[in-house]
Amino acid sequence: MQRGFLTWTLMLAPNGTSGHEVCPNATLGCRGVCLGSTGCQHLHETTALHVASARFLLEDRTAFMRTMSEKLDELQWTGGRNGLVPCARLNNLSDLDRTGVAALHPGVVFYDYTKRPDLMRRFLLGTDWPRNYHLTFSRSEENWPHCQEFLEAGGNVAVVFRRLDQVPPRSQDHSVVDGSTHDLRFLDLRSRPGSVVALRATPEGRRDRTGFVVDL
Ligand code: SF4
Repeated sequence: MQRGFLTWTLMLAPNGTSGHEVCPNATLGCRGVCLGSTGCQHLHETTALHVASARFLLEDRTAFMRTMSEKLDELQWTGGRNGLVPCARLNNLSDLDRTGVAALHPGVVFYDYTKRPDLMRRFLLGTDWPRNYHLTFSRSEENWPHCQEFLEAGGNVAVVFRRLDQVPPRSQDHSVVDGSTHDLRFLDLRSRPGSVVALRATPEGRRDRTGFVVDL
């Protein structure tokens, strides 16, 4: 838990469950352990809300963007009034290009995980990318070559481990950040770029057999 930050997060129904695909690089493994389909996010009312949000975005994009912009303005105002850094995670259960939104709200810190190599490359290159938007690449059972590419380029890569207590302080020549203590991934990059961010598998995730969750 980090003090001094005010976070707002947007959750859409993931991987096509609303009828619209919002996770273009989802895999069998990540769908199986996705927080949108397991755990407390899977409660009926919560899921219905996520479905409605995804449909709202994709069926009336203009109105959705206006509502989201108002929410971000309010976040920035409330954060400023209380001496807190306003932060937004817009892809909590999706993997969409949010650079346009981040560019329109330079007073808010945006951060997300992504499985999209195209977005991660643009983030690491930094050209045509808002300075207030940080990405962490998310390992799946299919994308280790991309993970290596981004670690070598100084990006951070999140890896879900079945047993977090068995993760060593270094992994394949990269330092390991414990990602379970807080969710503000843009803070990781300040100290140790090119790190593995170790995440703990949820109880449902520990049953994964696709290779998405890593055993040591
Ligand atoms: S990409 Fe992320 S949000 Fe989408 S299904 Fe996979 S884990 Fe869930």
